[in-house]
Amino acid sequence: TSYGFRQVGQGEKQALVNDVFHKVAKRYDIMNDVMSMGLHRAWKDAMIAALNPQKRAGYRTLDVAGGTGDIAFRIIEASDRKAHSTVLDINGSMLSVGAERAEKKGLAENLTFVEANAEDLPFEGNIFDAYTIAFGIRNVPRIDVALKEAYRVLKRGGRLLVLEFSEVDMPLLDKVYEAWSFNAIPQFGKMITGDAEPYQYLVESIRKFPNQRDFATMISTAGFSRVTYTSYTGGIAALHSGWKI
Ligand code: SAM
Repeated sequence: TSYGFRQVGQGEKQALVNDVFHKVAKRYDIMNDVMSMGLHRAWKDAMIAALNPQKRAGYRTLDVAGGTGDIAFRIIEASDRKAHSTVLDINGSMLSVGAERAEKKGLAENLTFVEANAEDLPFEGNIFDAYTIAFGIRNVPRIDVALKEAYRVLKRGGRLLVLEFSEVDMPLLDKVYEAWSFNAIPQFGKMITGDAEPYQYLVESIRKFPNQRDFATMISTAGFSRVTYTSYTGGIAALHSGWKI
């Protein structure tokens, strides 16, 4: 089903996505809690546990579509404030909120904020120990291009971790989840930003995103080895992992 939405081209898709996040940047963190009923915190914590960041200065990670900094902040804390993380996002409004939060948490020294596109990373190759992206990759118009870029900038032995909404594989939960996402999320979006359509678009993007197995295949195709995944909360979200060897 397309729920009455037109197909959009790549440029138009990115413009829509940018519009959503410019509008919500200041309320993004609270919206996340409301719309996921707080679950995103547990999923993010599980992602960091899977990464198990090294506790050494010189350990460098790149958090793409890093938005307001949730993943990068967790990585730095888990490394006993030794690691360095580059937060990259296409949206300056999201990064401004992130930079402000970083200052408040006293984490600014461990962070660099970069406004750029996941499809065209402004870094030389083989420099990061880990590449993370949480709830970002489904917004990127050309996912295969973003995955190739991830592979390029990682060191040999580097780790890719992707946290994303995925395919619900529990009989009752799928119905509840569908009702929640197609009705409640656009409603909240309208309440908070005055506009439901961008949220309908985001919900639609979740539905279009490949399931666990198909996304694992895409990661392998980009060159990664030992590709695995773990579903969280019945598949509402999934963590995919791969290595550059
Ligand atoms: N990672 C954060 C988190 O988990 O809370 C933010 C996720 S937010 C749902 C998605 C982010 O992807 C937004 O900040 C958006 O600006 C960013 N984004 C969308 N398209 C992008 C692209 N092509 N390159 C980099 N970032 C992008």
